[in-house]
Amino acid sequence: MILPILAYGDPILKKKASDISLQYPGLKDLIQNMFDTMYQAKGVGLAAPQIGLPIRLFVIDPSPYAEDDIEVQDLKKVFINPKITQTEGDFCLFNEGCLSIPDIREEIDRQERITIEYMDETGKKFKEAYKGIAARVIQHEYDHVEGKLFTDHLSPLRKRMLQSRLDQISKGEIKVDYKMRFPQKKKRKQA
Ligand code: ZN
Repeated sequence: MILPILAYGDPILKKKASDISLQYPGLKDLIQNMFDTMYQAKGVGLAAPQIGLPIRLFVIDPSPYAEDDIEVQDLKKVFINPKITQTEGDFCLFNEGCLSIPDIREEIDRQERITIEYMDETGKKFKEAYKGIAARVIQHEYDHVEGKLFTDHLSPLRKRMLQSRLDQISKGEIKVDYKMRFPQKKKRKQA
């Protein structure tokens, strides 16, 4: 099932999400729906707050970047209750987008290596290290469960320059080819 993706400006996107247990209602279907929604929108990651659930869960599949980084070729994964325990290495810029912020891409500075602890949908616990594009995508999705967006990494000046476009996104004054929910869209009477 395809779920609507919350657009920039929705307060849920600014909320730090909470851990869940494996007994979370409908978890298996929820994960499947998140993958379906992510693929349909041509994204490489989707976090639960983006579909309106303030819980620590995200999915990734960065395989469209496999040409640039072979390590992401087979990296379809679910992260439940993730915790980044270490961030290391040089800062590097990468052109990021976000399904909640359509049509805006920005160069975002992040460190190149992370260590993350999480569990999968069967409750198996992992502690893994990632670098390159995998680390990039994971840090972006991890930000979502921490209540952060890539725009929070921009300089105040750059953010001011983008503000009117961000406001348009909140109001739904944008063309987008996947299902979204806009926090400030005025309800029109149906003709
Ligand atoms: Zn995002």
